[in-house]
Amino acid sequence: MKKHNFYAGPSILTPYTIQKTADAVINFADTGLSLLEVSHRGKEFQAVIDEAAALTKELLNVPEGYHVLFLGGGASLQFCMVPFNLLKKKAAYINTGTWATNAIKEAKLFGEVEVVASSEDNKFNYIPKDFVIPTDADYFHYTSNNTIYGTETRKDYDSPIPMVCDMSSDIFSREFDVSKYECIYAGAQKNLAPSGVTIVIIKEDALGHVDRPIPTMLDYRTHIKKGSMFNTPPVLPIYSALMTLRYYKEQGGVKEMERRDLEKAAMLYDEIDRNKLFRGTVAEEDRSIMNVCFVMNPEYAELEKDFMEFATSKGMVGIKGHRSVGGFRASLYNALPKESVQALIGCMKEFEAKH
Ligand SMILES: *Cc1c(COP(=O)(O)O)cnc(C)c1O
Repeated sequence: MKKHNFYAGPSILTPYTIQKTADAVINFADTGLSLLEVSHRGKEFQAVIDEAAALTKELLNVPEGYHVLFLGGGASLQFCMVPFNLLKKKAAYINTGTWATNAIKEAKLFGEVEVVASSEDNKFNYIPKDFVIPTDADYFHYTSNNTIYGTETRKDYDSPIPMVCDMSSDIFSREFDVSKYECIYAGAQKNLAPSGVTIVIIKEDALGHVDRPIPTMLDYRTHIKKGSMFNTPPVLPIYSALMTLRYYKEQGGVKEMERRDLEKAAMLYDEIDRNKLFRGTVAEEDRSIMNVCFVMNPEYAELEKDFMEFATSKGMVGIKGHRSVGGFRASLYNALPKESVQALIGCMKEFEAKH
């Protein structure tokens, strides 16, 4: 049976990415060797990492003065690397969920943190709107897409200070103005590649202004100087990332990805709103187009397990909501075809007809 992969992360990759990665695991760049067993210092892998950085710059319109890095440690390591390198005295953060909370916790190790707003009071089911970004902070940090709760900020804030953004789960799903940011980071396993690599876009001029000593591996300047090859980089996820980036470009770039993502999300939200059995869990204006969270309406709450079994029997995979939200979460990343959304909607309709 055809499986429809709605996992939140690691998550679906394009068939092109999977096939090309599998090919390279067998025979990498006609070397007669596997990607898994060759030096990252060889000219073949150097070409891979160079093209991946160049394509990221091209697809995201990264201006001069910024570097694209491919680092280990996940987005979670960036929670500490960002303040380590950028926080002089004070930073501003908005708390929109678990990942933002984790980022705030790390930043507090390095200086004063002003939490400008939080939606914790309502289980992070909305994005706070009325807040002021202080002009005396070094940067303003936000999480563009809250993977667990299904809320998203789809446009750049109008900030009086440089911004830093955790775009782990919606990078390459919208165009944004890189020049407003000092740092953008994204774990690859949501919208790009297998887990193991994090894309970091860092502004060169933002570095070198803190007094604290920075361990070599945690200093962005180390990785800039060495082209992400100070130590052995995660070669396989970087290779897969390049395949996905090539695919994005060939398909029409970020604009086209966004068009498809908006269409898929609208289809599913329309069904959630129409279907008597279900309702969405977040404020309508903040609905994520990447992670769609929904629950059974209270009068049908006892059907949750049945629907899960029914959907699973029809090939739906990974639609269980995060344990902190419950219900269902369908992740509609770039690689997810429209047919999978249609299949899920079909399940919802069919299940409604039975009840
Ligand atoms: C998944 C996720 C993270 C954590 O990523 P790791 O690579 O596991 O450290 C951080 N932020 C967001 C928004 C995420 O979706």
